[in-house]
Amino acid sequence: MAQLPEDFCRKVAAARREQGLTQSALAKAAGCAQSAISMFESGHPEKLSMEFVEKIAGILKIPMAEKPRTQIPELPPAFSLQKGYCPNPACLSNIPYIINDELFVWPELILLTDNIKYCVTCGEVLERRCPGCERPVTAEGACCASCGHPRVLATLPPGVSSELWVIGRRDEIRQWRSLLQPRYCQQR
Ligand SMILES: [Zn+2]
Ligand SMILES: [Zn+2]
Repeated sequence: MAQLPEDFCRKVAAARREQGLTQSALAKAAGCAQSAISMFESGHPEKLSMEFVEKIAGILKIPMAEKPRTQIPELPPAFSLQKGYCPNPACLSNIPYIINDELFVWPELILLTDNIKYCVTCGEVLERRCPGCERPVTAEGACCASCGHPRVLATLPPGVSSELWVIGRRDEIRQWRSLLQPRYCQQR
């Protein structure tokens, strides 16, 4: 759970009172338990996920600037040579596959330097953290080794068989790589 300034909990309580909302009315609007709001307001932000905190800020119209930011953990020094990946599900550098009818994407890990910030394939800003737990990416894989969150969030187009889609997609990737191959060899 994000570390929020204690101040933010008080702001939520004050804004709710100002707007004449009860804790249970706010809880109902946000879709969480009244006890969670109560704990939150008394300085226990860990009782609510960031999703609900943002919902509540929206309901109470607490300005964006005052919305809390998730505290991003500092990168340990060992990861100064950070790895990154392209988070774009449509990028040809990301290989899709299906397990139990669920779509996963295996991103290519790229060693980041000061000059390498963008995906060379699609131009997307490279992601260096897990979108679920925000831990730095250290190992290969479609999902985070720490929390299991998929690194690239991909969805199938509606009404398409997952197997057929993946086969087609891999074909595109293969063709694209074979187009690059001759140039790649000439350079060597
Ligand atoms: Zn890309
Ligand atoms: Zn994670």
